[in-house]
Amino acid sequence: MYIVSAILLIGIIVLAVTDKKEEIKEEKIEEEKINFESDSTINLLRTKTGQIEAVDLNYYLLCVVASEMPFKYEYEALKAQVVVARTYLFNKMSKNGEENADACDSYTHCQAFNDLENLKEIWKKKGFTDNEIIDGENKIKKAIVESSGEVITYNNELIDAVFHASSPIKTENASAIWSGKDIPYLKSVDNIEDETYERRNTTNEISYATFKNTLIDKGYVFDLSKEDFANIKINEYTESGRVKNVSVGSNLIKAEDLRTMFSINSTNFTITNYEDKIAFNVLGFGHGVGLSQVGANEYARQGKSYKEIIHHYYTDVDIVNIDN
Ligand SMILES: [Zn+2]
Repeated sequence: MYIVSAILLIGIIVLAVTDKKEEIKEEKIEEEKINFESDSTINLLRTKTGQIEAVDLNYYLLCVVASEMPFKYEYEALKAQVVVARTYLFNKMSKNGEENADACDSYTHCQAFNDLENLKEIWKKKGFTDNEIIDGENKIKKAIVESSGEVITYNNELIDAVFHASSPIKTENASAIWSGKDIPYLKSVDNIEDETYERRNTTNEISYATFKNTLIDKGYVFDLSKEDFANIKINEYTESGRVKNVSVGSNLIKAEDLRTMFSINSTNFTITNYEDKIAFNVLGFGHGVGLSQVGANEYARQGKSYKEIIHHYYTDVDIVNIDN
């Protein structure tokens, strides 16, 4: 029964993506493009112009994965990110997460989407050669075609396939970050990451004036004395060892709120107090829930497959093919 309703649900989503006419293209390069293109399009809201564009589903996935993960990452890590991106999109569509469209191009609302031409310019500026760029593009295209139709489910429903850049040692429970609600497949798991990752350790220094004014502006405190500022300390940790909340004078402020307010890379931090400033010494990058990209790359380097990577980060999930 569950399976039948899940198939129905997924079927509806597939039907919702518009059918597309096969265009007759010319030889060689175009032929490769036809193989890569899917038979469906999605309606993508471009947030800068407000326009909605019909884009090929596989082109959308290519641009999202290339925007969200460095193409130099291991093939199996990119493939895991492809399945995550496809799942994230279909889950959003099944919940009508975008008004008048299937998804938008913003990473703060949906997933990061840059057009391939823009990405190529960015990569060139970063110093990648034409061959490296073609290799990277082809690697992601191959991962999309090879995992065609694959999505991640829990109890026969698409999961909310959240991911982040880096969470050395352990990922975080969803319940510790978002509204306290337990999500059974988003549990804290052990994580191994490359210790040379450039954002593994960062420090964020905030002046007394900025800290105080921001907290007042956002309504967290009415005032903050210099003495209270100099005594800010961690009050409580989450189960996975991240900071849960921080005491500021007589107030408790959620670490996740501080992270977003002051662009601190993660809630895995220690605090150093100074008279005129406060320093957050941070480990990792992102909210820490779901797949860790730096970790996925490390596991892929160690020989794990994309399926093993997905099963590692999302507890008790299935990987199913919605085309079957
Ligand atoms: Zn959106």
